[in-house]
Amino acid sequence: MKFSGKNVLITGASRGIGADIARVLAKMGLKVWINYRSKPELADELMNEINKDGGQAAVIKFDVTDEDEFIKGINLIIDSDGELSYLVNNAGITNDKLALRMKTEEFTSIIDANLTSAFIGSREALKVMSKKRFGSVVNIASIVGETGNAGQVNYSASKGGMIAMTKSFAKEGASRNVRFNCITPGFIQTEMTAVLSEEIKKAYVDSIPLKRLGNPEEVANAVAFLLSDYSSYTTGEVLKVNGGLYV
Ligand code: NDP
Repeated sequence: MKFSGKNVLITGASRGIGADIARVLAKMGLKVWINYRSKPELADELMNEINKDGGQAAVIKFDVTDEDEFIKGINLIIDSDGELSYLVNNAGITNDKLALRMKTEEFTSIIDANLTSAFIGSREALKVMSKKRFGSVVNIASIVGETGNAGQVNYSASKGGMIAMTKSFAKEGASRNVRFNCITPGFIQTEMTAVLSEEIKKAYVDSIPLKRLGNPEEVANAVAFLLSDYSSYTTGEVLKVNGGLYV
């Protein structure tokens, strides 16, 4: 892959999909900033692994729901590197239950964690990238943002909102050569899906045309494409990485 920029910030990169995004992008020559919230040991381990493999990695702690911390984090990166070329809004959480039992706070807290955080990151990135007339942002949404899912009105609303938000940012960023795209993963093997029972997982696998769950690296490869110059004429797009589940 070809990258005109030098560095990338990946939110929620200490484990799961975010960690593999960091590994893949570092192998492709970008300096990766590994954001974490609560597990410094995991973030440090990943940083050391990447640096040992000849890549360039640094860790940066902030909670994406804290606007001041998020902005400080981005400023710190710019102070260090003189630029921020790429951003991946990956941090996300679930809190599943049927809508009839869901408290309003259980709805809005997921919107804050998954959608408002990505808004803050995208807005701040656009400010910085506009000045250089270059940048690319990838938001990690979800297939349930396209299809809906019982037990996930909060999560699916946050991811559906993310898809629409990405398209709007793409329209605002285009005149400054800043691209915004998103990825909608299906079921990917991480701690987020590890909580599902074997019975539910089997039911999902049966319904996936490729007959297996995805792995984080397969999402990371799609992120690399959308960040890189290989997708330089693509903005406002939704790339499905779901084993054919949406077909
Ligand atoms: P994991 O639960 O494995 O990892 C989530 C990561 O996000 C962790 O590093 C976590 O950090 C971080 N995070 C959560 N909240 C915050 C916060 N407020 N500030 C900073 N970091 C935070 O999830 P996945 O890797 O599976 O998911 C990554 C993204 O992909 C999410 O947006 C998810 O919605 C999306 N996705 C996942 C799918 C799947 O099947 N796994 C399918 C579709 C989309 P910490 O360790 O501190 O909690």
